Amino acid sequence: MHGGLKTVKAVPKLGRRWGNAERERLEAMTAQDTLFYWKGPQTTAFVERFKKVCPATYVMPCSSGTAALHIAVAASGIGPGDEVITSPITDIGTVIGVIYQQGVPVFADLGANTYNLDPADVERRITTKTKAVIAVHLCGNPCDLLELRKIADKHKLVLIEDCAQAWGTKFRGQPVGTAGHISCFSLQNSKHITSGDGGVAASNDERFGPLLQRFGDKGFDRVKGGLFEQFATNYRWTESQAAVATAQLDRLEGIVATRLRLGDLLTQKIANTPGVLPHQVHPEDRCGYWFYFFRVNPAALRCTRDEFAKALGAEGVESGLGYIPVPLYGNPVFQKHGFFSGRWPLREFGLTTIDYTKTNCPEAEAILKTGIRITIHEGMTEEYILAAAEAVRKVARFYKV
Ligand SMILES: *Cc1c(COP(=O)(O)O)cnc(C)c1O
Repeated sequence: MHGGLKTVKAVPKLGRRWGNAERERLEAMTAQDTLFYWKGPQTTAFVERFKKVCPATYVMPCSSGTAALHIAVAASGIGPGDEVITSPITDIGTVIGVIYQQGVPVFADLGANTYNLDPADVERRITTKTKAVIAVHLCGNPCDLLELRKIADKHKLVLIEDCAQAWGTKFRGQPVGTAGHISCFSLQNSKHITSGDGGVAASNDERFGPLLQRFGDKGFDRVKGGLFEQFATNYRWTESQAAVATAQLDRLEGIVATRLRLGDLLTQKIANTPGVLPHQVHPEDRCGYWFYFFRVNPAALRCTRDEFAKALGAEGVESGLGYIPVPLYGNPVFQKHGFFSGRWPLREFGLTTIDYTKTNCPEAEAILKTGIRITIHEGMTEEYILAAAEAVRKVARFYKV
């Protein structure tokens, strides 16, 4: 920033993440007589492979991660006024389905350095109306599924895992998505693997699993046929999405293994740097580092978070401020309770008294104000990460109190 040499010479580019394998599957698809998902060869192949990544009896591929979460919420039986506890630092897609089912998202606070739900705070926010918890594995760092499942079982809640950022990651050796009752994945373009858009809802639970297909397919039961027993929208995907996603699944292990190695290396190299708080991942867990997220402690530095990030950028590190600009409840649509044409019938009819202007998650707010994200992807090298770590240490050294 002051004109010296940059610590990082060049940031490796990720480039195109698809090629011959995807082309071959798309080619095979064009020889099919149908492009419909149900019993489609591409979708069938996808489901078979998906089960190797996330063992589940029931798998419903769909149009997006948001769709998968809506399907999961509907299958859980969330209805008018039911409360669903989740993280305030996530993609808005985590709660869209809750609101459409006339449920009430209740935001709980987060671990200071895991940025994931704090189980103790989840338990504090349980009321007689609570029906489910959506655990978001932020950045691919697994939530404390042991504690969350314990709480869910104790209070008879459905545990939904939002694995959109957590493809191929593991909690104490177990694939994420298998500890909860229903798990949801996204294949949107920014995720570890993609078909442009797409999603998956999966379950091993006999109560919810069979409902996933129906809630993604206009309420129609393609196994049994018959009349409509459920009301739902159309979240079907197509064989073209399945063709690309199936080929992408073969790349997953390599992608996650590389990100894990690079992310853990970065932690190792910036640990014990005064003023810097690394991304906290449990030593027995496998994190997919959708991105790397660390915090600065402004009390231990002569600079603000924004100045630290600016200096890091000047050193050549691909980085940015926080993640989402404000916690979900801080967005105008929540502050005004204006979900349906500026209104929220649920509140107007007294089925909830929640007031998002009073929601208080101090740690989540502090995380977004003191967090800096560093891009990590499978096209990066150890050499780059070592230089990025040196840049973090250099900036921290310069601003040390
Ligand atoms: C991306 C994402 C979603 C939504 O997925 P889409 O496919 O974009 O609808 C939900 N939750 C989290 C944590 C995400 O990162």
